[in-house]
Amino acid sequence: MPWAKELPTISFYTQDTAFASDKMIFRQFRVGPMENFNYVIGDESTKEAALVDPSWEVPKLLRFAEENRLKVKKILLTHTHPDHVQGLKEAVSKTGAAVYVHHEESRAAKALGVKVNEVDNGDEFSIGALKVKVLHTPGHAPGAVCFLFRNKLITGDTLFVEAVGRTDLPGGNTKHLFESLQQLKKLDDSTEVYPGHDYGPKPHSTIGDEKKNNPYLRCKNLEEFQNIKD
Ligand SMILES: [Zn+2]
Repeated sequence: MPWAKELPTISFYTQDTAFASDKMIFRQFRVGPMENFNYVIGDESTKEAALVDPSWEVPKLLRFAEENRLKVKKILLTHTHPDHVQGLKEAVSKTGAAVYVHHEESRAAKALGVKVNEVDNGDEFSIGALKVKVLHTPGHAPGAVCFLFRNKLITGDTLFVEAVGRTDLPGGNTKHLFESLQQLKKLDDSTEVYPGHDYGPKPHSTIGDEKKNNPYLRCKNLEEFQNIKD
């Protein structure tokens, strides 16, 4: 992703996972009873922001946005399993933000009573001056996506720290997940991985570390992957 590499390195300003550069605010929130991660991404220059997978503790996300004088304009969904959209309606009604979801997941999002913007692999959109690229990564869910911005990848339930998403739910597909992971392995090793659940030994990782430490990413072929997955 050449455009991602050209941008400057972000420096952390707290010891956990909140940080800012002159242009960006990013915060990971651990929420709810299923160890979900929600995210707030903000562009410092325009004060525009997006929420990712708002669930369980929407007021906490909105309080953070308010404290940083951010206006939430977009809501990004990695997929539409209930634990990732549990707070969607509340977040939309409190912010009026536009919802972005892969077209294979849009029916489930619409069923919650919100309007959606359908996205597909390779689509790009902006959060203020910040570019976000959509990577379609089916396997855990047919319309599962990852969001890539600068050197950061929000992976939903496709890739966890040292684990991957399950494929035994409706629409899950082990072969598709294997293929999606091969695509993610092509990203630069320094790409930071921000998953949809806190299931690993640390809350975030890098593609390089996952290629070394994640048994599912170490599989050389589909057969090996299926053997440890099923
Ligand atoms: Zn899921």
